[in-house]
Amino acid sequence: MSGSFIVAIDGPAAAGKGTLARLIADYFGLAYLDTGALYRGVALSLIEAGLTAPTEAEAAAAALNLDPGLLQSPDLRREDVGNLASVVAAMPAVRAALDSFQRNFAARPPGGAPGAVVDGRDIGTVICPGAPVKLFLTASVAARAARRFLELQAKARPADLAQITAEIEARDARDASRATAPLKAAEDAHLMDTSNLSIDEVFARAKTIIETARQTRT
Ligand code: C5P
Repeated sequence: MSGSFIVAIDGPAAAGKGTLARLIADYFGLAYLDTGALYRGVALSLIEAGLTAPTEAEAAAAALNLDPGLLQSPDLRREDVGNLASVVAAMPAVRAALDSFQRNFAARPPGGAPGAVVDGRDIGTVICPGAPVKLFLTASVAARAARRFLELQAKARPADLAQITAEIEARDARDASRATAPLKAAEDAHLMDTSNLSIDEVFARAKTIIETARQTRT
């Protein structure tokens, strides 16, 4: 087997991509990149600079100067950060600024890992179109909102189901309708609707797909 083995996972907000990606990375010994964290990092740095309605040039500058330390911040998960992330993610100059970091990570994963699991919105279509495994996770808005609600409750954070539902719908609409790298499944992606599946079931399906791809890879 030669080159980095890449598992691309795409799908809308709160479809379970991050949980699945971590399980796959641990099981197969692959590096993990959460590309949403990059867009969230850009959004958080803008908010911290008082730029809550940035121009494309301001957002691109934030992307080019992204502080890796910010990517560990618990504030990345805030809803306002996720919402601004999806606004700046529609700006071509921001996507371009984050492009090479993502491609380099996938091609040369850190720590000498034999490959990488990369999750986001455009991994199978734009960032790693040659990935031997592409998964596209979906789930109903109701299922995703309920998951996000329970996650927030578990962390004893304020949670309002109606508000979370409205934010997920707005984010879906922005991510799917933007001109640059919209959210969509690659033609050769395996689609998985996780609305009625447990994480164990999703992982079991993904594991079979990955094992088959590894065996057939030359
Ligand atoms: O996945 P997460 O919810 O953390 O991503 C935050 C936002 O970043 C998404 O709503 C999306 O607009 C944007 N994003 C993107 N492309 C990616 C990853 C995230 O546009 N590859």
